[in-house]
Amino acid sequence: LPRLPVFEAIARHDPESTVVIHSNSGRRFRYGELLGDVCKVRNRLYETAGREDIDGERIAFLVENSYDYVVTLLAILAAKSIAVPLSPAFPAPELQYILNHSEALLLLSSTKFASKAEEVLKTELDAPPSHLQLSKFQGGGVHEKVTLEKTGPGSAGMMLYTSGTTNRPKGVLLPQSVMTAQARSLLQAWEYSSADHLLHVLPLHHIHGTINAIFTPLFSGSTIEFLFPFNAEAVWRRFAAPFLTPDQTYSPESTLHNHQRITFFTAVPTIYSRLLTSHKTLPPDIQSAARTAISPSNLRLAISGSAALPTPIKRSWSDLSGGNVLLERFGMTEVGMALSCGLDVADRVDGSVGWPLPGVEARLVDVDTHQVIERGQERDADGRERVGEIQLRGPTIFTEYWRNAEATAREFVDSKDGRGQWFKTGDVAVRRTVDGAGKSNAPSQKDWARGEMYFILGRRSADIIKSGGEKVSALEVEREMLALPQVAEVAVLAVPSGKWGQKVGAVVILDKEHVPEGKWSPLEMRRALKGKLASYKIPQVLKVVDHIPRNAMGKINKKMLVKEIFQDEFS
Ligand code: ATP
Ligand code: MG
Repeated sequence: LPRLPVFEAIARHDPESTVVIHSNSGRRFRYGELLGDVCKVRNRLYETAGREDIDGERIAFLVENSYDYVVTLLAILAAKSIAVPLSPAFPAPELQYILNHSEALLLLSSTKFASKAEEVLKTELDAPPSHLQLSKFQGGGVHEKVTLEKTGPGSAGMMLYTSGTTNRPKGVLLPQSVMTAQARSLLQAWEYSSADHLLHVLPLHHIHGTINAIFTPLFSGSTIEFLFPFNAEAVWRRFAAPFLTPDQTYSPESTLHNHQRITFFTAVPTIYSRLLTSHKTLPPDIQSAARTAISPSNLRLAISGSAALPTPIKRSWSDLSGGNVLLERFGMTEVGMALSCGLDVADRVDGSVGWPLPGVEARLVDVDTHQVIERGQERDADGRERVGEIQLRGPTIFTEYWRNAEATAREFVDSKDGRGQWFKTGDVAVRRTVDGAGKSNAPSQKDWARGEMYFILGRRSADIIKSGGEKVSALEVEREMLALPQVAEVAVLAVPSGKWGQKVGAVVILDKEHVPEGKWSPLEMRRALKGKLASYKIPQVLKVVDHIPRNAMGKINKKMLVKEIFQDEFS
C-alpha cells in the first residue's frame, strides 16, 4: 500500500483492538485485519478496471454504514483514486447525476445495494461505469502483514457533494492531504483517543459522517460502532445497554458489546431533537440507564453541527444528561470543520460555534464595507455589531469544485499577504469576546482560544433578510421563536414584498401540547415575541404547517420552501 498517513496510523494501532462494531449483530472487526482487507479490495478495483493505473479516477460506491464502507473508502485511497460515496437514500436520477458529473470509472456496491446500483446503471449515463459488486468480502478476519511502500498518495482523495441546500449539489474535491489535515485538526481539538468508542448514526456521503466520525477516529485507534439504519429507540437502547442490570437485556442477538459504554457521539440537531422526543416513550429502566449513559462522566463528548443548534434542544439535552452540554461546531463540505466550541464546558456558549480550529485561519469581512473586521473593530461608530462573511484558509480547505472552474474562481479571493487565497463560505456571523471563555483549554489548544467566539447568523443568500433597509438574521429569529412554548419547529424566510423589498416570514409547526387546537394567529405570534426581538425582526407573515421538508442533514432549502408556501406573495 502507498504510504498514506492514515495507513501508517492504522499500522501502529494494537492489532487486537476493535476498529468497527455493527450494533445490530454485535459483529466486530479488528485494526489488525483492516489493511489486509483494504489490499484485497484495492486489487479487486484493479481487476474490475482492467489496469492498475487508476490514479485520480473517480470511484463511486454504494455501501451501507458498516466495516465494508470503511474498507472501501480506504481501498479507493490505496488505489490513489478518488472516492465518491453515494447515498442509498438518493433516488436514481440523483445518483445518475453524480455518476455523470463525477465521470466515475467504477461503481462499487455492497450486496445490499446491488439492485439499487443496477437500477442506476440502467438509466442513461454519459459513460457507464463498470460495476463491482462486493459480495463475499466482508471481514476476512485474518491478520495479514501489509507493507507500506515508499510511494506517495498520487491523486488519492475524496469527492463529496454538498447537501444541495441552496442549489444543485456541487462536487467538492478533497485531496488526501486535505482529509489528513482536517483529521489532525480535529484530533487536537477534540482529543480523540484509543479509549474512545463512537456511536455512529450519520449518513456517509457527507463530511460529518465520513471525516469526523470515520477518517479521524482511524488515526486515534478509536472504535467506531455503526448503528444502521438510524432508529431513535435503538440508539437509546444501545446507550443504555452497559448500564442495565443482567436481567434487563439489550437485544437478543447481540450481547457481545453491551458492556462497552459510548464515549463519543456526534449528530445533527434534528437527530438530537428526535432522541429527546423518543426518550420520553422508553420503558422506565431503559430511560434511567440511558440518562446515566449520556452523563458527562460516561459520554465524554456529544457534538452537534451541520445546522444551527436550537437552544431549547441544547438545554433539554443538558437537563436530561445531568449537565452534558452539547458542543457546537461549524463546518461545510468545502472546508471540513472550521470553527468549534471548546472541550471545557464554559466554552460552549449558547448560540456560538466557537473559534477557529487548529490550523484554520478565519476572518470576517464586513458585508457592507467589504473591509476585514479586525480584532477590536467588531462594532461600528454607532456601536452596532458588524456583520461579516466568514472567510477561511489553511491546509484543511478544499482545492476545487469538480469541473466547475467558474465557481472555484468565484468563491476564492486573493490575499494581500501572499499566504494563500481565502475561501468565501457564504455564511455570515458576528464575533464577540465572551468573558471567561477560551481560558481553560488543554495546553495543545491554548494558542487558538482567546475568548473570541463566532455567532453564525446564517447564509448570506438565504438567511439574511433585507427588510426596509434593516438586516434580519433568520437564525436569530428562529432561535427566539423556538424558545416559545407554542413552537415545535420553525423556518424563517425572506418573503418578497413590494413595500419593504423583503419581509420576514415564519413557517411554523406548532407544539401540540401547548396549542392543542392547532391554531396560532399572527397577532398571537407578535404578542409572544414582543420584547424578545426588535419590532422589525418580528415576522410579518406566518404560516402554520404540519411538515417542513428537510434533507438528510436536517437542512431546509429556503428558496424552495418560500416559493412553495408563500406562492401568493410571488404573483
Ligand atoms: P449547498 O452548498 O449545496 O447549498 P449546504 O451548504 O447545505 O448545501 P453542506 O456543505 O453540507 O452543504 O453544509 C454547509 C452549511 O451548513 C454551512 O455553509 C452552513 O450554512 C451550515 N452549517 C453547518 N454547521 C452549522 C452550524 N453549527 N450552525 C449553522 N449553520 C451551520
Ligand atoms: Mg454550501
